Amino acid sequence: MKTLVCTKPGEFEYAIGEQPQLKPGQAIIKIKRIGICGTDLHAFEGTQPYFEYPRILGHELSGGLIAVDGAPGFEIGEAVTFIPYFFCGKCIACRKGKQNACENIKVCGVHQDGGMVEYLSVPSYSLVHGDGLSFDALALVEPLAIGAHGVKRAGVTKDEFVLVIGAGPIGLGTMEFARIAGARVIALDVNNDRLSFCKEKLKVEHIINAMDADVTEQLKSITNGDMPTVVIDATGNLKAINNAFQYMSHGARYVLIGLQKEEISFSHPEFHKREATLMSSRNATREDFEHVISSMKKKIVDPTTYITHRVYFDQVKDEFEGWLNPANGVIKAIVEMV
Ligand SMILES: [Zn+2]
Ligand SMILES: [Zn+2]
Repeated sequence: MKTLVCTKPGEFEYAIGEQPQLKPGQAIIKIKRIGICGTDLHAFEGTQPYFEYPRILGHELSGGLIAVDGAPGFEIGEAVTFIPYFFCGKCIACRKGKQNACENIKVCGVHQDGGMVEYLSVPSYSLVHGDGLSFDALALVEPLAIGAHGVKRAGVTKDEFVLVIGAGPIGLGTMEFARIAGARVIALDVNNDRLSFCKEKLKVEHIINAMDADVTEQLKSITNGDMPTVVIDATGNLKAINNAFQYMSHGARYVLIGLQKEEISFSHPEFHKREATLMSSRNATREDFEHVISSMKKKIVDPTTYITHRVYFDQVKDEFEGWLNPANGVIKAIVEMV
């Protein structure tokens, strides 16, 4: 079968791989769509921490089920996606139902070879029913579930102000699920094109450019002097993360979806006087995947909004580098397997 291997930073090579055989407890998916995300781009650039090469990338996937063992209710031929965070089932996180934060987690396409292949073997427990959605929509469930998980972590309630920082695909998904939870969403980003996208396509109520000198004043005026009760970072940028502590209201929750490598620092008195809560949000759970799918089915989230670029598998090697350039306006690039 055809595969595309990231052999080292900056280099892809098409290769012939061995087609997987069905093993106990596994399922084989004929891949139909591969969504490209920041992780893939960083892995290609060589800036993804702890990444090993050669590696087959791809974790935002959908396809048809062609063989399966140990997945009651799943049928050969059905359209599926899957939860690409494979877990041990034994560690404390798994025992507490937080498989998304498993101590021994293996993310498909990151810690082990992923979906830039014709056929992929995955644990049967990770399968998710396609529920009548298109292959395009199903490939977008994972990135949207990341945002849905962050919103769930924050415990967003109706009518509260939620500030989402970063209007990339993860930030956009976060804004959508904050809106679905009933929040009044404020988008903050440095890129005016992305901010206009939030306003026009996602109907985000308020947008602010992070480079403005008066961000705090704008937040005050939007929130009637209170400041946002939820702040969610989807940038993974140290400066943005440290800077946003000041945007929290008293009693606020600050959720980090984005990840970076350095130490975060903030004023303890400022944090303490707010009785603020800081938390991280890692991956997503099955419940989040189901929430995304049901929101797509109810058409309160439109997956096609996100797809800006589309190529066939044979074109990925040549097109990939262009997706790193912000000038190309990539939100979500989708690869089609035929
Ligand atoms: Zn991703
Ligand atoms: Zn575990």
